[in-house]
Amino acid sequence: METSAARTTGMVLTTMAGFNFATEERHCSEHGAYTAMKTPVGWSDCTMCNAKRQQAERFRLEAEASRLTIMRQAEVPLRYHGKTLDNYDASNEGQGRALRVATEYADSFATARAAGRGLIFCGTPGTGKTHLAVGIMHQVLEAGYSARFAVVLDAMQAVKSTYRRDAASTEAAVLEKLTAPDLLVLDEIGNQYGSDTERMILTNVINNRYNAMKPTIMLSNLAKDKLGAELGERVIDRMREGGGRMVIFDWDSHRGAHA
Ligand SMILES: [Zn+2]
Repeated sequence: METSAARTTGMVLTTMAGFNFATEERHCSEHGAYTAMKTPVGWSDCTMCNAKRQQAERFRLEAEASRLTIMRQAEVPLRYHGKTLDNYDASNEGQGRALRVATEYADSFATARAAGRGLIFCGTPGTGKTHLAVGIMHQVLEAGYSARFAVVLDAMQAVKSTYRRDAASTEAAVLEKLTAPDLLVLDEIGNQYGSDTERMILTNVINNRYNAMKPTIMLSNLAKDKLGAELGERVIDRMREGGGRMVIFDWDSHRGAHA
């Protein structure tokens, strides 16, 4: 870099492949002597520093690509791939509280995983419930756990589609995808305009995970009492008994501005 380089000679003209280049012997504080070359965009940097920067950039891009692959494999919707706990906007008190709960949960996931302890985020649409849940997933996946994201209606339809005679997958295989991961995020609970079959499938998934002591994060736009009616108070009680927390998202939606 220009800043770490000291000139050790004056500029000279060098001929290379029939072209004239102005060169100068310079000294990199980290890598020692190098020949800088004048280019249309300025003097070239230390080649070792250049290589180092390119490698760092390559690592960054690889990390980014593998993060996106992981998000895809976890079936997180594309618009949420970049949502982390770090980029959640916690500008009001409710958001600050929700972020604290999410951060504590992600930080102590080993304990939550061992105890099968989950979370419930419910309330006003557009208040960042999905953002926070995906943020937790990022951290949990980075720590080497498995996690999966499922929109309830899609998951229930995937299960129901296996009932067809020509189904490509079995009910057991679809349910396994929902039961196997260390962490399952169930989004849009209560938006399934549920048939009894759908409701039964959802209850089964939640109960299977409860029995296997595997944590579930449940997200719903329903208010607390409506969610209780939707899931059954027993599910909520079990969640509470296991030390799971319920966060009520009751501030105004900011979807459009930040979501
Ligand atoms: Zn250097």
